[in-house]
Formats: sequence, C-alpha cells, structure tokens
Amino acid sequence: MPELAQVIVDVPTMQTNQPYTYQIPSTLEKQIQVGVRVVVPFGNGSRTVQGFVVALDQPTDYDGKLKPIKAVMDLRPVINKELLVLSKWLADTTYSFWISCLYTMLPNLLKAKTSRIIRIIDDVDEQVAFDIFHGRDELDMATVQDKPAIISKLFQLQRAGKITIDYRVEDRARVKTVTGIKPILNFEQLEEQRTSLHPNAHAQNRLISYLQTITGQVVKIKDAEHVTGLKTGTFNQGQKKGWLEKVPIEVYRNPLGMQASLDNQHLDSPLHLNPEQQHAVDEINKAIDNHDPETFLLQGVTGSGKTEVYLQTIANALKQGKTALMLVPEISLTPQIVSRVQRRFGSKVAVLHSSLSNGERYDEWRRIERGEARVVVGARSAIFAPLKNLGIIILDEEHESSYKQDEAPRYHAREVAKWRGKYNHAPVVLGSATPSLESRARAIKKVYHLLHLRHRVNQQPLPPIEIVDMREEVKKYGESNFSQSLLRKLDQRLQKREQSILMLNRRGFSSFMMCRDCGAVLKCPNCDISLTLHMDTHTMKCHYCGHEEPIPYECPNCHSRKIRYYGTGTEKVEQELHQLLPQARIIRMDVDTTKRKGMHAKLLRQFGQHQADILLGTQMIAKGLDFPNVTLVGVLNADTGLGLPDFRASERTFDLLSQVSGRAGRANKQGEVVIQTYNPDHYAIQDAKNHNYDQFFNQEMALRHQAGYPPYYYTVRLMASHPEEAQAAKAMVRIYEQLRRGIAPSTILLGPTPRAIARMKRRYYYQIVIKYKKDPQLHNLLFKILHDTQSHGYKDVQVSIDPDPQYFM
Ligand code: ADP
Ligand code: ZN
Ligand code: ZN
Repeated sequence: MPELAQVIVDVPTMQTNQPYTYQIPSTLEKQIQVGVRVVVPFGNGSRTVQGFVVALDQPTDYDGKLKPIKAVMDLRPVINKELLVLSKWLADTTYSFWISCLYTMLPNLLKAKTSRIIRIIDDVDEQVAFDIFHGRDELDMATVQDKPAIISKLFQLQRAGKITIDYRVEDRARVKTVTGIKPILNFEQLEEQRTSLHPNAHAQNRLISYLQTITGQVVKIKDAEHVTGLKTGTFNQGQKKGWLEKVPIEVYRNPLGMQASLDNQHLDSPLHLNPEQQHAVDEINKAIDNHDPETFLLQGVTGSGKTEVYLQTIANALKQGKTALMLVPEISLTPQIVSRVQRRFGSKVAVLHSSLSNGERYDEWRRIERGEARVVVGARSAIFAPLKNLGIIILDEEHESSYKQDEAPRYHAREVAKWRGKYNHAPVVLGSATPSLESRARAIKKVYHLLHLRHRVNQQPLPPIEIVDMREEVKKYGESNFSQSLLRKLDQRLQKREQSILMLNRRGFSSFMMCRDCGAVLKCPNCDISLTLHMDTHTMKCHYCGHEEPIPYECPNCHSRKIRYYGTGTEKVEQELHQLLPQARIIRMDVDTTKRKGMHAKLLRQFGQHQADILLGTQMIAKGLDFPNVTLVGVLNADTGLGLPDFRASERTFDLLSQVSGRAGRANKQGEVVIQTYNPDHYAIQDAKNHNYDQFFNQEMALRHQAGYPPYYYTVRLMASHPEEAQAAKAMVRIYEQLRRGIAPSTILLGPTPRAIARMKRRYYYQIVIKYKKDPQLHNLLFKILHDTQSHGYKDVQVSIDPDPQYFM
C-alpha cells in the first residue's frame, strides 16, 4: 500500500507550483489513486485546500513531519495518466501554473467548488442504507468527509456499481434521472395478487401481467406506458398496492436532442471518393495503421471534400478499435459539419458545444471518459477530451485564431494536438482552404506532410469576385456603406427571390485612421504597423515600439482632409439598408442579436427557410454556412482587418475574404461576390479576388522575412499590469532590464509599450514583445521573471507570458 502522495495544491503562485508530499492515512489507503482530487491541509494553521494527486510513493527529501491527506473527493480518477503528463507539459510551455492546467482539462462542473452528492442507484444492504444513508437515497459527501470508515465503505459500493456521485453547483446541474418502475413482488406473489382483484379491474390485471414479464428489471415509466398502453394512474395504484416501486434511472442529457434517435434511423454511407480524396485518405490511413504520429496538412478550397476525408479516416480509426477527436473553430458557427459527423457515426459521437449547460457538458464528458462515446467533436477545449487510445486528431480550419486560448493557460490547440498525437502514436490532420503561414511553411520544409485537394467536388468554379473601389464611390456619390454596384446586385436578388449575405467586418477594436480619398492608413515608421488612436492622450500610438505622433488633420499621402476614424456598427448599416431597399427583409446577426442562448441557430434557421432576403452580420457569418439559395455575398468594408495594428492583419483579411466568398453559389446556381474597399490594390484583396493562395503566401512570407515576424521569428509577449499606471510602467522597466541582461544577442525586444487597450478591468497594462530565432536560455529566464515578480518589490503587479501570441493588441 502506498504511504506517500504527491499533491498539486490549489494555490496558484509560482512558489507553490510543484507537488507537495503528503502522508496517506491507512484509512484512505485504498481510495487514493493518481488523478483523484483530495483535500489537504496547507501552510501553518488550519487552512485546507483542494489538490490533485499526481504521484504515489515517490521519495521525498523533505525531512519535517509530513501532514496527512484529509479527504478524497473522487471515487475514481478525474484526470487520467495521459492528461496528467500533458498537464505538466502544458504548464511548462505556456508559463502557467500546473494547477490551472489541471482544472482547464476538466468540465466546469468538476472545477467549481461543487457539492458532491452520493446517490444509491442499485440495491444496497439495509444496514448500509440505514447507517450511512439514514434511510434516504442520497448523501452529501461533505458530511462524511472526515469519516474514513464511511468513505472506505462508499468506495466499495462505487466499485460494485451501487452508488454514483454527482457534482452539484448553483445551477443544480447533476446526473439527470427519469422515473423508472421496478416490480417488488416475484412472479408467484404477483399471481397471488391477481386472485384478489375485482373482476372489472382490467387495467390492474394487465399491469400484473406486465410486471411479471419484467421482474428483476427497471423500466422507464414512459416506456412501460408506451408498451402496455396503461395510464400513469394505473402504475400509481400498483405502487400503492406494493407491487412495484418507483426508482430514478440515470440518463444522459441530450444536447442536440438527437443521439437516442440517431441509431434508429439510417446512418449516412461513405461517399465514393475522387482520386485526390482517395490519395489523402490512403496516406492518412497508412499513418493510422502504422501508429505513425505524422502531421498532415490537408489543403483544399471550400467544397473540395475535406470533410469527407475526415469522416473516412475517422471510420478507419474506429475500425482499428481506436477513438477520434475532431476540432472545429466554433461549434455554433458550424452546425452543418457537426450533424454530418453525427449522421455518419450515430451515438458514438459526443459533442462538446460551447453553449452546453454545465450539466450537459459533464454528461458528454462522462460518456467519453467511460468509453461510450468514441468520436468527439468540439471547439478548442475539446482537445482535452479524455478519449483513450486515440487513432486520429483533426483540426478543421487550422488557421483560425480561436484555437489559441487568450487567457491562462495560453495554449494553442494545434500544439496540444501534436503532443497527444505523439503520445498516442496517432496522426494529426490540419485542414484548411487557407492554411496559416506557419503550417504551410512547415509543409514546405517537409515537417508536415502536405496533401492537396485542388478541385471542388462538384466541379463548380469558385465564384467571381468584383472589387469595388470605395474611394471612387465616395467621390461620385458621397459617403455610404453601399456602393452602387452592390445595391444593384442586391436588388436583382430580390427580383429573382434569391438570397444574399452581407458581412460587416468588425474586429472588437478598430480605432485607426484612414483617408477616405486615397485609402491610406497611418502607419508606424519603424514597424509598418497601423497606429492606434488614443483619445485620452489625443495621439496616435504604435503598440509594438511605442512611437507616438499627433492625430493628423490631413492625409500624409494625398493631403486630403477626409482622413478620419474608421469603423461602423451593424445597426447603423441595417438602418441605411432599410432606407435604400425598403422591401428587403433583413436578419441582423451580431453579438447583440445572438446574446441569448439558441438565437444564433434560430436566426440561421429562419434565413434557411427564406424568411429573410438578406443576412447582415459580422465575421460570425463567414464560416461554414451552406445555403443553396444564396447567390450573392457582399463584404462592406474589407479594410477593417487591414488597418489593425497586427502583423497578421493581411493574413486574416485574406483568410476572411476567401472564406466568406465560399458562401456564394454552393448549389447549382452560380454565385458572385462583391468586396468594397478603400485599398483595391492591396495584395491580400487582389489575391483573394483571384483565389490565389500561393501568390498570397509568397508575398506575405517575403514581408514577414523582411520585417522579422513569424514564421521567421518566434515571438513571446510579456505583459505586466497594476491598478496604477506608473507602477505598471515601473515594473515593466525593471523586467525589461532583467530581460535585456539575459537574452541571446540575436534576440530582439520591442517595447515596453502600453497595450492598445491600455486599461482593462481597472488595471493598466504594459507589454514587451520578444522576437527570437534561437535562445535556449529564454525559457528559464522567463520562468525566473515570473518567479521574481511574485516576490517583494513587485507589490500588486501581475505578470503574464503569452508564447506565440495571436494578437498584439
Ligand atoms: P469541404 O469540407 O472541403 O468544404 P465537403 O467535404 O463539405 O468539402 O464537400 C463539399 C460537398 O461535396 C458536400 O456536399 C459533400 O457531401 C460533397 N462531396 C464530398 N466528397 C464527395 C464525393 N467523393 N462524391 C460526391 N460528393 C462529395
Ligand atoms: Zn489620402
Ligand atoms: Zn512601431
């Protein structure tokens, strides 16, 4: 029996970011396993904290008296071996606390300070029912936490499958039950009851016959009613007469309301692959069969049949007895893909949806953990799904920035996927029409295996794209959100009863200056990055190097006075559209109209049923939508993205325009696209117009090379914050000095500068961006800085480190 346990405690500081050794009291010996949560005393005094057991019986060099573990919270591990090893790696590579990484992997229900309720789900002997449960069928674990004998007994019951444990939080999420019935009497006893029935009691007579067929079983009352045609009242009478009892039956909540019915209907059959798809499937299957953790880049335009490749390789993994994990950027935006996976694999699929309630999410997690669900589809955090024996991991739209978490732990799902691929000896497939520069560059260097789908399955050409020069429009017709050409085309669609999608490009933060006459955006002379408007100081600032200049009153390029703040809201655009095309029915989709749960899907459904002619929305409409009646896509302001102070601005614009263009002409009707811009000659816009990824890639790589950005350099962003601006700045200068002394000579520091959104949640933020090619000491140096800034001299300063940041604002 183990005597010592290593525990990661829930005290998130650098100083406590390592396992502590605890003594296992003999009463808990049997329950302590690696991966369970425990309650332990911590520090001096009587404080207790939660923790995770990460190892047993490792020698310790601590020679003081070891404290004993107080209680075990779980009857079976909530973190398996693989995820435990992964959590350690995650903490190390994302500069975060091990404890935060462990919590990140669990469903919310297991994270919150929940109460734990033990419930009886099968017969237990009377003594136990009386002694432990006091005649009721549930028990709050907190009341027995410090009674090892009882815990030990519960542990046995759990092993025997007689009890289950629920985690309850405020929303009362818990294991969900429905009412079941269970005969109390045996066959003969029931027969005896029949003799005492009134001759006219036909229903009760039938009930007895039915109960005789289900002795020893528990049946959902709904099913029993359905089978017998008897009413609930009859069952209630049976209960009163002591023939049957009612018991709760554990069921899973049904997030999409379809799992149960899925296997009853026909599942979709695999499609006959075209040669390019076949080649891709063969190569990936080879890796699955050979347990080869290779990374594939599956590049193919929208409609080239990538999803079919995913589905058939998943099928192969399942056939080999393995499991499969598929990530999509945001599930609510890609309902069509999810339902395709479900129609192919039925109830084997678990969906980890961002809008699931905590209870639903926990149910899906349990189905995965118990091996009942063997295919998981989900957004970023689903990368931690406790699937065992993974055979393939897929990231659809691998270039999406939502795969990177922008709070601690700042992990990138792509990197975690590769880690799990290695651990499980399974291939990783990165799919995209517009791969990230990083991934494509790796494919060229043969680090990734490139698989190309060059043609659309239906041989439909990609839609033609018209670029409208808004500078000319403004000169001729005055300022408007709609060009003449776009208006004409919208009107034509109305005549033909076809639909249109309009996208207003909005990134949360877009306060930059642009000239309406020449399209020029004010840029930093040092960094070639847009300057950002700061109303507090009335200046334009560069957030990379700190360069600052006054707000211009005329365009430095063409001397026009029409240089101004750029940015407009969907609501304003909707109003204008109503005036211009009064007969058009419009659905507006933005954060405001989709705040309520289910609204997003509802609006899409309405649009799909042609209850509106125009879908007007932000980027959230760019992805995954497939409406056969949509023949026109308009982008109102392609420049928003370009003006952002971010070296990835062009890449994001190109991706977005390519993606939204793919929404037009999906079925047999030819589609077209109109892109309005003040920068018609910009290469990101021209290359998107020509559907030319390769040209964009080459041009953008040349610029990145010149300016020293990824993928030629690695970047790390270090941020410090404090409630007082002067203190934040002071801390940052100290950190800067420490960095400067420790980095390799070739490493470059940008900053310190205030962040674009310098003040958030009552704190001021400063940042430094570190660019490096090779700096083996940097990792340790950054950890040392984290450590040092938690000690004296840095009161109230918070420091965070973001490896490979996706945004620099
Ligand atoms: P992508 O994921 O690359 O956008 P999809 O896999 O969604 O492409 O394929 C586009 C359309 O073509 C879908 O409607 C899909 O059912 C169909 N499709 C894909 N592969 C084939 C095939 N081999 N034969 C017939 N239809 C196919
Ligand atoms: Zn100008
Ligand atoms: Zn600059």
